[in-house]
Amino acid sequence: MYNYVKYDHGWLGNWIFNATLKGAAFLAKHMWLYWVLQFTWGILYNIIGGLITLFCLIFGGKASSYHGHYVVMFGNNWGGLEVGCGAIVANNMGDAWTTHTKNHESGHNFQNAIWGPIAIFMMNIPSAVRYWYQEINSRRGHGEKNKPYDSAFFEDSASVTGEYLYGTLKGKDIKELLK
Ligand SMILES: [Zn+2]
Repeated sequence: MYNYVKYDHGWLGNWIFNATLKGAAFLAKHMWLYWVLQFTWGILYNIIGGLITLFCLIFGGKASSYHGHYVVMFGNNWGGLEVGCGAIVANNMGDAWTTHTKNHESGHNFQNAIWGPIAIFMMNIPSAVRYWYQEINSRRGHGEKNKPYDSAFFEDSASVTGEYLYGTLKGKDIKELLK
């Protein structure tokens, strides 16, 4: 289950976190603008993500929609990957984790709309590098080296944004969530 923790990311991380959460709350109410951003400013990662999606669909992925974001269920128990305006999410993680993963990846979708090509360098690449660093630590039996997943601003930002819009933080005063 997702456990909300209010992490401090330093002034810059906090500033990006706040801008993303406020931007996403605005875009969720003006989804036409969200789509314009996805296919202009955010098009680059949608092209890369579209190819990843196509690969997953060819190899048995199942597509569905989640609050207007697309989700392709693919493989078992590995987590999720944001691909622009959609996400690839693993099967067999249990309902609570599947829902949180969908919310988390939706948060990354908003990051892509808001930060466009900058999101690739500020969120996607750091997120992938950190994921594999932690995964390799765990596989080598050094999981204790891993910091909590959401202690990085780009992950916390995705989780809180998604959970605020669609999940367990829905209905909370946004001021309580801002850093
Ligand atoms: Zn993430």
